[in-house]
Amino acid sequence: MTDPTHKHQFIIDDLKRLEAESLLISIRTIESAADNWMVVDGQRVLNFCTNNYLGLANHPRLRAAAQQAIDRWGVGPAAVRTIAGTTALHRELEQRLAAFKGVEDALFVQSGFNANQAAIAPLVGKGDVIFSDRLNHASIIDGCRLSGAKIIVYAHCDPADAEAKIKEHLPRYRRGMLISDGVFSMDGDIAPLDGLYEVAQRYGVLTMVDDAHGEGVLGRGGRGIVDHFGLHGQFDVEVGTLSKAFGVVGGVIAGKKIIVDYIRQKARPFLFSSATTPADTAACLAAVDVLEESEDLVQKLWDNARYLRTGMDDLGFDTGHSQTPILPIMLGEAKLAKTFSRRLFEEGVFAMSIGFPTVPQGLARIRVMNTAAHSQDDLDFGLKVFAKVGRELGVIA
Ligand SMILES: *Cc1c(COP(=O)(O)O)cnc(C)c1O
Repeated sequence: MTDPTHKHQFIIDDLKRLEAESLLISIRTIESAADNWMVVDGQRVLNFCTNNYLGLANHPRLRAAAQQAIDRWGVGPAAVRTIAGTTALHRELEQRLAAFKGVEDALFVQSGFNANQAAIAPLVGKGDVIFSDRLNHASIIDGCRLSGAKIIVYAHCDPADAEAKIKEHLPRYRRGMLISDGVFSMDGDIAPLDGLYEVAQRYGVLTMVDDAHGEGVLGRGGRGIVDHFGLHGQFDVEVGTLSKAFGVVGGVIAGKKIIVDYIRQKARPFLFSSATTPADTAACLAAVDVLEESEDLVQKLWDNARYLRTGMDDLGFDTGHSQTPILPIMLGEAKLAKTFSRRLFEEGVFAMSIGFPTVPQGLARIRVMNTAAHSQDDLDFGLKVFAKVGRELGVIA
């Protein structure tokens, strides 16, 4: 029997192990708004860490919209959406998001993570099968597990393997669903959505894509990965987030009306967790306004991304195989990545190291996230510091 005085020993042991393997997460405290430069743990640093792709998290129009919403609607939603929490703001945002994405309907939920918990279980359950990309986001994996369906993993971004898996497994189940991330958040590569859709369609399998890192980034004016591939309205479910390029917080489940309506009836995070606040919802609406009015921010993001990638490549860093502004600097061992990140911070650049389990063992990296809010001077400063630390630690010559 375990000694009752030592019932927490397993935690002490596990934390020791994480520390020894350089996998213990140390959490920095941010002391200013999310922007190109930020105050972090008391130090002013260039920010290469946030998912604030378009610089909207501290945009004057979004701030004003949030402030006005508080004056009119107060601060709290006071109920879940299905009881007394659906305001005119929520309905307007859902219609605007559906129009923006070129789909029939959309449902706004509390976060992207929640969207994946909400969207999957109503559509597949016990007796069904999900075909899931090997590198799908943790929130997709959890959403799949919650559904109770059998999960079959196919090789990363590989429609041929997805087809082989569907052929082999689908006949033994009631129905199937294929789920892929749109842009893979740690590598920045893009799912071959056309090929995956074609395969799923051929076998009558439901389709879902999570476009968290594609919205505001890919497609015309940031309309996302489905727009990038010209597959409007084809996917049964398009999950997204309002907390990355949109700069606020919240999740979206968009797609065919029949599916979104059904999810409204069934999704547990929608039925059992309170609505998003008026301020957040209004700020999301302002973000859609900004995106619909101009493509300038999306253009600036991509110009910055190209400049930074070319700069890092020229310095001799291994920048992986990203096709988007996500820029991994591949370092290998978690210990090196951690030291690298700490040295960057001391030199005035905030870029976090990412290790297992977020990325596979031995593929630790620094993930550099530029935004439309960065100037060329900012990027040049960042490159100068990466060069210095890279040489100091023997990563580049
Ligand atoms: C970030 C992310 C989420 C979570 O979105 P939140 O709005 O932060 O909860 C979900 N899916 C993917 C693919 C993501 O990258």
